Amino acid sequence: MGLKGVLTHSMSHKQRILVKSNIAALLFFVLFTTVTLSLITRQRVQYQRTVKEHTLKTTLSYINHLVKTMQQMLPLTAKPCLSSQADITYQAAFTSGVRTFLLVKNGYAYCSSASGDLMLPLKILYPEINWNQHLDFKLQQDTPTMPGKPTVAVWLRQPDRLDTGILATLDIDLVPLLITPRYAQTPDIAIVMGDSALTTFTPNLMPVNQLPHQEADRLNINGLPLSIMFYNEKLTPEDIRLTLLGSLVLSLMIGVLCYYTLLLRQSPEQALLRGIKRNEFFIEYQPVFHTRSGTIAGLEVLIRWQHPIRGHIPPDVFILDAERSGLIVPLTRHLFRLIAKDAPQLATVLPQGAKIGLNISPAHLSTPSFNQDVYELLAQLPCNYFRLMFEITERGMVEEKNALAEFDWLHKQGIEIAIDDFGTGHSVLIYLKRFNMDYLKIDRGFVNSIGQDTVSAPVLDAVISLAKKLKILTVAEGVETAVQMRFLQERDVNFVQGYYFSKPLSIDDFIAYCNANQVFDYQAQQT
Ligand code: C2E
Ligand code: CA
Ligand code: CA
Repeated sequence: MGLKGVLTHSMSHKQRILVKSNIAALLFFVLFTTVTLSLITRQRVQYQRTVKEHTLKTTLSYINHLVKTMQQMLPLTAKPCLSSQADITYQAAFTSGVRTFLLVKNGYAYCSSASGDLMLPLKILYPEINWNQHLDFKLQQDTPTMPGKPTVAVWLRQPDRLDTGILATLDIDLVPLLITPRYAQTPDIAIVMGDSALTTFTPNLMPVNQLPHQEADRLNINGLPLSIMFYNEKLTPEDIRLTLLGSLVLSLMIGVLCYYTLLLRQSPEQALLRGIKRNEFFIEYQPVFHTRSGTIAGLEVLIRWQHPIRGHIPPDVFILDAERSGLIVPLTRHLFRLIAKDAPQLATVLPQGAKIGLNISPAHLSTPSFNQDVYELLAQLPCNYFRLMFEITERGMVEEKNALAEFDWLHKQGIEIAIDDFGTGHSVLIYLKRFNMDYLKIDRGFVNSIGQDTVSAPVLDAVISLAKKLKILTVAEGVETAVQMRFLQERDVNFVQGYYFSKPLSIDDFIAYCNANQVFDYQAQQT
């Protein structure tokens, strides 16, 4: 399984991402709903204040205008209907909202703007009106001219006469009273006069004691016997329904987005870069020995990745991805920095000239920054102390066009080159000569076959003797048993490395190991 597989094809990992996305969606849902509803409430309250102010202004200005008109008409009550009717009809037609004007004398309506002469007792026509009052407003379910259509009766008395004056009946349309230029939505209202109310709930008048019980905002109009009730709703069920629906859709989108973003963050490239940034990579060192003397000749640097969720990820899994994505370059640079940091400590336990074997990816070899990267590494290591050995697989050598020139350059820098995993790839022996190799690392597979596989052993023999003829030093890797060790000793392989001696070790363990085993005692191991 590749790195992507290791990172994402774990159920628990996907579940964790799912849980995180759900939490994000839920938080968003709560936050969005709360903020939206409180914004709607605030806007509603503001709007209702505006409506109230507008209503007060409109009502006062209308009443002032009406009363002024009626005051101008008061002298007409001293005249007969015949001479006044044209006047009051004209005024009724041009005073907005007026249904009729009635001239009243001695308690009798004697002249109507609608029908002219009449003689009706006002107390029967409009029993609710308080005649003694200078100005009174009362609601009436209907008038003789328009039965069934509620009206407001406005009574203006002659200042010096008790039952003489003018009575106006008004058609009231509540909507223009409420609508302000900026808002279309209006609250329910009730205009209360005496014991009745005209409301937006029903076209008929409503007794005050039957008005809805819900909380209403009451606006008393100074000096006038009327008040207006506003049935404001801060949040309507519709507001709540729409907000919840919107939040739900957005939260779902956020959840899905979160899920895929988190999954994507687990792409091999992102994970590798994050690993470098968060210092999740570290080095293990495996000692390499002189076969004859058993003394430590150097070490091989092996990279390790401790992923915060996936735990230990072996290099076989992530190196390939790093090569494919080009991230092998920053990864190797990071490795160089880690080596440079450990180098002073390594110098305390390794002799001068000890070899540091580094696995170099062929993909890095051909990048423009390679030479600069190597310069920087050399500059950070203790001066002239270690001998660097770059381990490059034969596959890489064959595929990289500039390999030959690069190897020449490396040699000029005093860096040796080993062909790694020899025997696993194309295995064209001629490359050994052509590429001017210093070392040949015999693959673990060959070493493993010693004493078991009768086909591989003669090939191994041939490889070792050819390397000798070409004056290339040999390193056997993956040595695990005394039998393998004896075989390699007999064939005079120059260096050995493997679990038989030591597994790859952390810097501290490596230092301790070197202090305790400056010479590997084969004799003691074999008995
Ligand atoms: P490799 O270069 O052939 O490294 C030797 C591998 O064999 C290491 O595995 C080491 O731990 C393992 N090994 C050593 N002795 C024994 C033994 O006696 N028995 C067995 N069974 N295994 C032994 P590791 O560390 O898992 O590395 C695997 C491969 O990853 C390496 O193979 C190398 O190709 C690559 N690699 C490791 N570190 C780096 C690095 O820093 N850069 C690059 N480019 N590749 C690296
Ligand atoms: Ca190697
Ligand atoms: Ca190898």
